[in-house]
Amino acid sequence: MSHFSNFKVTVYCVAQILERMELKDLAVQYEFIEKYVGLDKVYLEPYRDGHWVDKDKMKGFIDFFKSKNVEVAGGFTTVVPDIDKEDKKRQRLFGTFCYTNPKMRDYIKKVSEYCAEQFDEVILDDFYFTNCTCEDCIKAKGNRTWVEFRKELMRDVSENLVVRPAKKINPNVKMIIKFPNWRESYHATGYRPDVEKDIFDLVYTGTETRSSAYQDQHLPTYLSYSLVRWMDDASNGRNHGTWFDTYQCWPVDDYLEQGYLSAFSKPEEITLFQWSDLIDNKLVAPLGLQFGRIDRMLDETGKPVGIPAYIPYASDGENHVEDFLGMQGFALYPTPLFPKEGKVLLTQSSLYDKEIWGKLKEFLLSGGTAFVTPGFMAKAPEDEWRDLSSAYPTGRKLSCTRYYKTDDPAGYLEDCEPVLFADIQHSNNLSWSLLNAGAGEYHTSMFLKDTYGKGQMYLINVPENPSDLSRIPEWAFDAVKPVFNYGGVYVSGRNVSIFHYDNDTFILYAHVTGKARPVHATIHVQRENAKLTNLFAVPSVWASDSSEELPLVDREFGYDLGSIKEKTAEVILNPGEFYLYKLS
Ligand SMILES: [Zn+2]
Repeated sequence: MSHFSNFKVTVYCVAQILERMELKDLAVQYEFIEKYVGLDKVYLEPYRDGHWVDKDKMKGFIDFFKSKNVEVAGGFTTVVPDIDKEDKKRQRLFGTFCYTNPKMRDYIKKVSEYCAEQFDEVILDDFYFTNCTCEDCIKAKGNRTWVEFRKELMRDVSENLVVRPAKKINPNVKMIIKFPNWRESYHATGYRPDVEKDIFDLVYTGTETRSSAYQDQHLPTYLSYSLVRWMDDASNGRNHGTWFDTYQCWPVDDYLEQGYLSAFSKPEEITLFQWSDLIDNKLVAPLGLQFGRIDRMLDETGKPVGIPAYIPYASDGENHVEDFLGMQGFALYPTPLFPKEGKVLLTQSSLYDKEIWGKLKEFLLSGGTAFVTPGFMAKAPEDEWRDLSSAYPTGRKLSCTRYYKTDDPAGYLEDCEPVLFADIQHSNNLSWSLLNAGAGEYHTSMFLKDTYGKGQMYLINVPENPSDLSRIPEWAFDAVKPVFNYGGVYVSGRNVSIFHYDNDTFILYAHVTGKARPVHATIHVQRENAKLTNLFAVPSVWASDSSEELPLVDREFGYDLGSIKEKTAEVILNPGEFYLYKLS
């Protein structure tokens, strides 16, 4: 029986810790984790970086956890010390394997067999990349690109040195590959979900965003949700869980947000890395509390849904722009599958699909709505782009301090904090700008519409620093979100995300950034006869009970040379808290 009804909580324990662990200490530490979070499953690691945990010792740990009704699985990390003099010549980041070296190939096979002997489920920690550029690898690569070479190399290693040997030893073993949090670099380093999803039984997703501003992977908090959604589609629904750690998490909310957003994506498992780092750690108690609350809230939700952001396999460019948009209330869900209808966001990464233009035109012709970023426009082949829009980047940058909504007779906002945008020009009355921004006597378009067949394509101007999306007034975004939304429902509020589910529920979450404080937010609903109920909110003596119906105010405003009718509700959101609403 799991501690939570929507997910299992699991903890990963590395070999170096298990190697020197006494069973009596493990029992004490188990009590801590059980008390503050609740432990459903452990991943015990027999091998990491030359450390092999003794089998008998491991058997003692396995028996201990089974006696506590904790599910047990294994794991290993593909890091290896120098195993002969020759290896010193290889420059291996973090001691990862050179997969063209026969000794190392033999070694990883032994590791995989050793784990499969002891467990029916084995996960690979995310050091299963290769960046080796030793002379052997250069020779083996030949005329291929590194991307092509590493794709084939890791297909071979995955099939022949990891999965097959493991299954030969233990036909029941399920092999799981954990993909790192840096999706945009997978293909460069041999990680190929498009290939490996079919070799491994299940996949797993790294959701470690840590301290976004400082960690070296440039990952916005929203990734803890969005990468899981991408992986769900990328693996044909075989994503098994999410995984985050305690590192570089200041303040406490940096840690907790990883857990919240992971949970919002509704994984089967949430893994906490790693065992000994959790013990007596102040991060753990609030996580356990919040998991309990999130679990109750998720009982009311369906399957996560949103606006697809088309991020093909093995692509990069304008990395995480969809995540920065997600943090400002654009309900984006990245996917390697191009949608057939509805809405889609295209970024520079989308251009990796060689058939993108045919897909986009067909999508627009049949009435789809596409949103595109400046990176998509700038890197598109000129003839293809010109067939769809008159817009082009001049190459100049504009520091904008005012905004103008072209449909609002009084739609002027002056003296805003400066934000740097690309200057985009377009042919008057061919493309139509719904929102402008500028300074002095000059301005550029922030949201530009083109039509094609029955469809529309909107160019959304994203600041040169995508983090500056949080400095654009919500008032200005209100000229974008009436169309750039999911299901006619959106939220206005700085640093507020909206997470939709397919049963007409949605979560609002105010991110903890900078000087966090409660924020006003407006929920917009473009539906007649809508009823809005608050199903879950932070307990407060000032608020009435949960399941409260919110008063909706009718609103009609000029938009896109016509008008839009909406119903709106004002709410106050505490940063770092989550709220669930239902439409009926
Ligand atoms: Zn090599």
